[in-house]
Amino acid sequence: MLSLQSGILYGPIASRRLGTSLGINLMPTTYKLCSFNCVYCHYGFTDRLTMDMKDHMYDLPHLGDVLREVERALRSSTAFDYITFSGNGEPTLHRDFPEIAAGIHELRNRLRPRVRIALLSNSTGVLVRDMRRALRYIDVPYFKVDAGNEVLFRRINRPASGVVFDEIITRLSRLKDIYIQTVLMAGDPSNVDASALADYFEVIKRIQPREVQIYSLDRPVPDMHIRRVQPADLDRIAEQGNNETGIVFRPFYL
Ligand code: SF4
Repeated sequence: MLSLQSGILYGPIASRRLGTSLGINLMPTTYKLCSFNCVYCHYGFTDRLTMDMKDHMYDLPHLGDVLREVERALRSSTAFDYITFSGNGEPTLHRDFPEIAAGIHELRNRLRPRVRIALLSNSTGVLVRDMRRALRYIDVPYFKVDAGNEVLFRRINRPASGVVFDEIITRLSRLKDIYIQTVLMAGDPSNVDASALADYFEVIKRIQPREVQIYSLDRPVPDMHIRRVQPADLDRIAEQGNNETGIVFRPFYL
């Protein structure tokens, strides 16, 4: 398992999709807080599974501290291509995410206009109006969709109570120019058998993203019943997805 990020900024790291990326962690540093508890999460199982931040506000970084650290990084000589919201859980759970995103957008425009701002989200943020509005400050939004139906969604992502699969897909389908990310896994649960893939491709057709990025597991995972999808199978699923949806599927593996 990976250790939790220990501060607000981490990296820059070489990312499989984003070149050199400076990570921003808006979640606590001493425990994992997320609205999902994915079977494959590299940070291990979620300690606090919730959409409600009221008991956790004091454990989250303040708006002013985040902007100060990002400004320092933008003024430094350290090179990076992206600033990426990611970290120990779901970034849009931070109540000040809209103000933080707006502030970073303004700093980026002023200090390093070539750097792009990315968001890696598990998609629960799209259920909240203010978070959807904040997407105007994100250049490259990535949203997680690992399943094509509610039953498999609950088995793979194990969401906090109140999170409904179809509401997420409906909200995603109203957004323009988004990227979808999917972790594929065999074993139990599996999202690569024929019926799981058929439902998944239907959901991708509803969303009409700009691109779908599919991943295999590349690190140890907390649930020992799931297995890595082999590179040849990832290629085959990417081709099938492309043929059935007309949308570009890009496979990523190590
Ligand atoms: S959404 Fe991301 S951080 Fe949260 S449990 Fe899933 S993989 Fe881990």
